[in-house]
Amino acid sequence: MAGKDRKRCSFCGRYEDNVDMLMTGIDGYICNDCVEQAYTILRDEKLLQTSDFAMTELPKPKEIKAFLDDYVIGQDEAKCALAVSVYNHYKRLMQNGKDADVEIEKSNIVMVGSTGTGKTLLARTIARLLKVPFTIVDATVLTEAGYVGEDIESILTRLLQVADYKVEEAERGIVFIDEIDKIARKSDNPSITRDVSGEGVQQGLLKLLEGSVVNVPPQGGRKHPEQKMIAVNTKNILFICGGAFDGIERKIAQRLNTHVVGYDSAQNKHSIDKTDMMRYVTPQDLRSFGLIPEIVGRLPILTSLRPLDRDALRNILTEPKNSIIKQYVKLMEMDGVKLTFEPDVLDYIVDKAIEYKLGARGLRSIVETIMMDKMFEVPSSNAKTCKITKEYASRQLDKSSPAGLMAS
Ligand code: ADP
Repeated sequence: MAGKDRKRCSFCGRYEDNVDMLMTGIDGYICNDCVEQAYTILRDEKLLQTSDFAMTELPKPKEIKAFLDDYVIGQDEAKCALAVSVYNHYKRLMQNGKDADVEIEKSNIVMVGSTGTGKTLLARTIARLLKVPFTIVDATVLTEAGYVGEDIESILTRLLQVADYKVEEAERGIVFIDEIDKIARKSDNPSITRDVSGEGVQQGLLKLLEGSVVNVPPQGGRKHPEQKMIAVNTKNILFICGGAFDGIERKIAQRLNTHVVGYDSAQNKHSIDKTDMMRYVTPQDLRSFGLIPEIVGRLPILTSLRPLDRDALRNILTEPKNSIIKQYVKLMEMDGVKLTFEPDVLDYIVDKAIEYKLGARGLRSIVETIMMDKMFEVPSSNAKTCKITKEYASRQLDKSSPAGLMAS
């Protein structure tokens, strides 16, 4: 059919059957491609506010912290640092594109804490709340970049994937880099034993942290010549890093010792909590550990996590919204069975986690071992209740090998 009855885009002139969609106006039509083009023009001319959240909708730092409290026990210092950092990230995004006399710089953050103290849990929990793309990547796969590992840029591949390959969305996302300590230079003294691969990775990472346009392989892995790259600007991407920094306590102690030689040494020594040296960590210690100064400079917020004591472990079992015990109660409830634990069972579980040196990570494997037989039997029985006593728990644990627990 030809002629004036056929609808066509008033901008590009294409007919209805040559475009995906034609929108009707008062005196004309516009096709989807022209809408997209118009959008790009507006965006490039900075007439469009690319950020789609309003200040009133954003969770305030205190609300973010309260949300984290529901899932993570203790670690208030890290929670506050994270909450402020994320909130400021939103503010910066809102400012982006508008003329601003004061440009807000991003504040990447680094969390230092022994394994199993909740760094990844904090990151995962905050992700539930975020209104921007978020991903967790592991720095260990980057250790051998340039050899057999993954290129640094693949960190951004994951972000692109969660943003459905919408570059603009990915460019305002948040990346959590776990195990950042694993790319530290192995030696304190760069001039003697240079750990070239470690430092190479750090230089690569620095580019991302600083903010630059990088070519990202859409499928991740290693770059290869035929692959089409996607250009991503990291200027507004917030990086949160976490690491156990095993042995950093020694560096901290060394530094504190050299400092306390001064006239007020007695006073300083007195106030140092030797059981938790991590709380005194400074950027200088990260450098002594083997991070290059430029990286340390790009991680202006440094926060540390407290070791989990007996009370904290006990709370982790029962307090979080999705605590291990609550999960088992729920599982049994689905079979119409009311599950209860005698209080001394919980103390026993904590004792075992400490005895096996498994920390919070071990709590789940211990509870799983205790519960396995019941989870197998109860659904086929007529029982309406199931009570776990300390005797039962210790019998179940004795049956299993501690080695099995260690492995999990
Ligand atoms: P990290 O990243 O510091 O090595 P994780 O966050 O992976 O440790 O913690 C391992 C597990 O231990 C978590 O999945 C969680 O079940 C438990 N856990 C650790 N710390 C806490 C905490 N502060 N509050 C609640 N659970 C915790």
